[in-house]
Amino acid sequence: MSVLLIAEHNNKEVKPFTLNVITAASQIDKDLNVLVIGNKTEEVAKFISKVPNVKKVINIDNAIYENYLAENFASVIIKYAKDYSHIVCAANTFGKNLMPRVAALLDISQISDIVKVISSDTFLRPIYAGNAFATVKSSDQKKCITVRPTSFDPASLSGGTAEIVKGESAESFSLLKFIKREEVKSERPELGTARVVISGGRGMQKAENFKLITAIADKLNAAVGASRAAVDAGYISNDHQVGQTGKVVVPDLYIAVGISGAIQHLAGMKESKIIVAINKDGEAPIFSIADYGLEADLFEALPKFLEELNKLNTIQK
Ligand SMILES: Cc1cc2nc3c(=O)[nH]c(=O)nc-3n(C[C@H](O)[C@H](O)[C@H](O)COP(=O)(O)OP(=O)(O)OC[C@H]3O[C@@H](n4cnc5c(N)ncnc54)[C@H](O)[C@@H]3O)c2cc1C
Repeated sequence: MSVLLIAEHNNKEVKPFTLNVITAASQIDKDLNVLVIGNKTEEVAKFISKVPNVKKVINIDNAIYENYLAENFASVIIKYAKDYSHIVCAANTFGKNLMPRVAALLDISQISDIVKVISSDTFLRPIYAGNAFATVKSSDQKKCITVRPTSFDPASLSGGTAEIVKGESAESFSLLKFIKREEVKSERPELGTARVVISGGRGMQKAENFKLITAIADKLNAAVGASRAAVDAGYISNDHQVGQTGKVVVPDLYIAVGISGAIQHLAGMKESKIIVAINKDGEAPIFSIADYGLEADLFEALPKFLEELNKLNTIQK
């Protein structure tokens, strides 16, 4: 048995979730190899080679991999898959885009979003928006697995001495042409990995009112999240959505403002260490999972909260 992990990076830096997935993958089997596919990714490969549990880094550089298109990635992964029992990557946008294609090409079922490795063929995964957990045993000879990164600690970053070998590209997918990438650049921490998240819901009433949320986020060095209702109403872009069809977050502190607590929202944040809810409806379901609840009008509570933070005059990094 050996495990092939597909690293997520931007050709210069490794995305933090890759380290969480390395922890999960090394629990499946100690013979862990990491595939770094990209363009001019020598530094990425070097960085990963220092992670203790990694035995080998296969580095495949080619201009066709610059924009991490799933179609091009899948064909090169298939080339290498024959030597491995497990192919693993994160259950985030990157992995959800890539792994179904790999599994389909290998003609096997994907095991999605695992939160625990029970053995090399048995895994725990949430179902029904996290309201139940299924123990899934796979009898496929080869297994394609996506890992919920927030369920595993990140692997440590030093002490490893994995060898780095150059790998061969596959043919580029001819029906595909990369046009452009639109990325929101933000000084704030990334939603998926932030220690503190403050999210607004439909109760914010309009986009402009999210200023109340961002002012507090700046003070707490927090990421800004939102409910789907807030996203659908156009108050904020959908890359901020937390929940079943958005991002899963597990921060130390999650502050839900004007969010009712629908199960689809809870699916994305209920594992947060401390949950604070501000809602004017004392019956709102969010209070049933909150560690601290404030039954109040957010338009009064948030300015007061900011005032108190200003008195502290500190940003928690
Ligand atoms: C398949 C599917 C997937 C979904 N995926 C997601 C998902 O990923 N994420 C997600 O969030 N939702 C998701 N939803 C939608 C989900 O069911 C809810 O509709 C949504 O979460 C509600 O958002 P909300 O809490 O902001 O709005 P509401 O339910 O309308 O709640 C607004 C809250 O604001 C409070 N409020 C209003 N004014 C104030 C005020 N002045 N001060 C204080 N409180 C105030 C109200 O009391 C209320 O509790 C999904 C639904 C489906 C069917």
